[in-house]
Formats: sequence, C-alpha cells, structure tokens
Amino acid sequence: MGEFTLELNEDQKQVRDWLHGFAADVMRPAAAEWDEREETPWPIIQEAAKLGIYSLDFYAQQFFDPTGLGIPMAMEELFWGDAGIALSIVGTGLAAVGVLANGTEEQIGTWVPQMYGDANDVKVAAFCSSEPDAGSDVASMRTRAVYDEAKDEWVLNGTKTWATNGGIANVHVVVAVVDAELGSKGHASFIVPPNTPGLSQGQKFQKHGIRASHTAEVVLEDVRVPGSCLLGGKDKLDERLARAREKAKTGGERVKNAAMATFEASRPAVGAMAVGTARAAYEVALDYAKTRVQFGRPIIENQGVAFQLADMATQIDAARLLVWRASWMATAGKPFTAAEGSMSKLYASEVAKKVTAQAIQILGGNGYTREYPVERMHRDAAIYTIFEGTSEIQRMVISRAIAK
Ligand SMILES: Cc1cc2nc3c(=O)[nH]c(=O)nc-3n(C[C@H](O)[C@H](O)[C@H](O)COP(=O)(O)OP(=O)(O)OC[C@H]3O[C@@H](n4cnc5c(N)ncnc54)[C@H](O)[C@@H]3O)c2cc1C
Repeated sequence: MGEFTLELNEDQKQVRDWLHGFAADVMRPAAAEWDEREETPWPIIQEAAKLGIYSLDFYAQQFFDPTGLGIPMAMEELFWGDAGIALSIVGTGLAAVGVLANGTEEQIGTWVPQMYGDANDVKVAAFCSSEPDAGSDVASMRTRAVYDEAKDEWVLNGTKTWATNGGIANVHVVVAVVDAELGSKGHASFIVPPNTPGLSQGQKFQKHGIRASHTAEVVLEDVRVPGSCLLGGKDKLDERLARAREKAKTGGERVKNAAMATFEASRPAVGAMAVGTARAAYEVALDYAKTRVQFGRPIIENQGVAFQLADMATQIDAARLLVWRASWMATAGKPFTAAEGSMSKLYASEVAKKVTAQAIQILGGNGYTREYPVERMHRDAAIYTIFEGTSEIQRMVISRAIAK
C-alpha cells in the first residue's frame, strides 16, 4: 500500500482513456436506442468482452488495484458513457463481489468465470437479495435455505425481486435465511448454477431510467444446489451461526452478515457511477451554456446560469473525493468507522439527481426532450438514491456510526 495520492498513475490514466474511448464511441451513440428498446444490449456487452472490458480479468485488475482507485475510475467512465448500458456491463460485478467477499478460493475460481462467459458467448450474473417484503428491511427476508444432510444439498424456496439480470443470468447468487431466529445474522449466500431446475424469471420491470438494464423477479421453487454452493462453506457458516446465537443470548456486539459485506464493498462503486452520470450531464450543460445565445450573448454570461454550473462542478468534485476516499480506505483495510462508504454513496447519488435536473434547466426546452441526452441522464440518476440502500438508509447508517 503506497502513500495516498489523488493523482492517477500512468497505467490508470491509460485505462481511463481507453474506457473513455469506448464510452464515447460505442456507448454514447447507442444510449438512446437501448433506452427506448428497454432490453439488455447484448451486442455491446459482446463488444466490451472482445475488447476485454467485460471480463473477470479486467474487473479483478481494477478490484485489486492497490491504490483503490481502479473501480471508481472505471465506473465513472462507463457511467459517463451511459448508465443503462453500463449497468448491463457491470451488473455481473455485483454478483462477482458477493462471491469474492464471501466465497472460498475454489468457489471464486469455479463460479466467477462462468458469470462472464467468454467473448464469443457472453454471460451475465445476478445478485438476488431484495424481496417484495424485504427491501430496506433486509432482516424480513423470507427465502429459506434448508440443508438436506442425506444428499448434501441445500433446498431454496422463495421469491426475489428487483434482481439486476435476474432470470437471464447464467449464475445467480441468492441470499437466503438459514436460521430465522437470528434475523439478518441468520442469512447465507448461495450459488445457483446455470440451468438449475426450479429457478425461473417472474415479472420483468418497466422502469423510469437505466432501461437498458434488465430488472426482474426471480422465483425459487424447490431449487436444489450442492453443498459446495454455500458461499464460504458449511463449517464457516456453522461457526458464524454459533457465534451469532451466543451473542443473541448475551446481547454482545453485532455480527456482520454476508449480504451486508457485499453492500459495504459496493457502495463507493455506486457513488462512482453517480459521479459519472452527473459529470456527463454537467458537460452537456456547460457546452450548451457556452453556445446558446439569448439576449445577444451566450447564456453562460449570465451569472444565474454560470453560478449553477459552478455549483455543479464543485459538487461533482466533492462527490468524487468522497468516493475515492472510501475506495482507498476499503483497499487499505481501514474500517468505515464513520460510515465513509455510505457517505460517499449518499452524497454522490444526491448530487447526480440534482445536477442532472439542473442540466435540464440550463438546456431549457431542449433539455426536456429526447433530442438531448440530459433528460435520459436525469431519469437514470434517480436510481442511485434507491438501490444499494436508499439515501434514508445511508443516513441511518451514518447517524448510527457518528452517534456511537
Ligand atoms: C433498478 C433496480 C435494480 C436493483 N437491483 C438489485 C439487485 O441486483 N439485487 C438486489 O438484491 N436488489 C436490487 N434492487 C433493490 C434495491 O436495493 C431496493 O429497491 C432498495 O433496497 C429499496 O427497497 P424497496 O424498494 O423495497 O423500498 P422500501 O424499503 O420499501 O423503501 C420505501 C421508502 O421508505 C424509506 N424507508 C424505509 N425504511 C426506512 C426507515 N427505517 N427510515 C426512513 N426511511 C425508510 C426508503 O428510504 C424509501 O424511500 C434494485 C432496485 C432497482 C429499482
């Protein structure tokens, strides 16, 4: 772990410019089309795979970048290109992180490559935690996993919802209750391998934004998976449950659950996505303000417009700094004692919503049409304050941390 720096090194700059080229040349021109089609942009995922952008190698390289800035830098560039297409490209990463955070080395080696497929036959993966009655309140989860000792198999039953890539994924990571008495501490994550009987797609949602990304219910009916599909293995689970039972009796400190470990690691990454969308809308608004002439001069020459742009630029930079700090802390193994991961996600997502709305205002009537991209960016930005923990939940996490 080197000294902390806010300067990207030469390798990182090269990767950033390469991603920016893909975002500008491939994603941006296709964004409006896939937004209208509301379908997974398989040809673009395939192109990303051919270039090495959609691959375990690329993701792992960014994930294990010792500065911690690999993932936020990559997310910002891809989401600058287009949020819906970018989520189709990086959605698999959330499931992969679930395995990287909780799985054994063997599980990582077996399942993560199958999540991506290969450049000629691309696959996606889904992370299924949310349920119709368990959104923010993860502890209300009902999907059950029961161990069948005779066969060394787990049997999963329940309905998951809001799953990005749910039902179209090659590999699903499913969080389920193994001990209902322990609330969220009695949860565990399971791999559901490709073509496992009993797993089916329920409703596919029609959404406000990020419409190129597939979001659907996943129904699990007597889904049987081998014992080896329990992430982390049975010994580790039994140990964790025993500890949680002991703590429940004695009222000791909280035990981290599997899904929360995934979210903690991914919140700064979601903040980086929001920074990408915000920056994209800001750049469109800035260009427009410099060229649109009213009352005989570019509208940016009015302080009322220029000050809005000044605030947008400042807030985007502040959001990026919070995201980079949290990502660096996570990589350096520093605990989020003041909920720094949540802070970065909260602030960046709220900035994205605000900045994209301001961009519409600066473009006037044009901003309100689908001739210009800021209308789409504003619809897309609304997701960031909802998924991976709503803004209210982030505030809960932050307030608990600072009130300790
Ligand atoms: C496009 C999209 C993709 C998604 N992808 C995934 C995925 O891949 N995998 C997955 O598992 N989930 C996914 N989700 C689910 C997402 O994480 C949930 O929607 C989110 O956690 C909120 O849950 P909910 O929708 O049930 O809202 P609720 O929890 O019902 O919340 C409704 C409102 O009440 C507020 N609220 C709730 N509790 C409190 C409280 N205690 N104090 C104050 N306010 C509160 C919330 O902030 C919110 O404003 C996705 C969602 C969407 C929309």
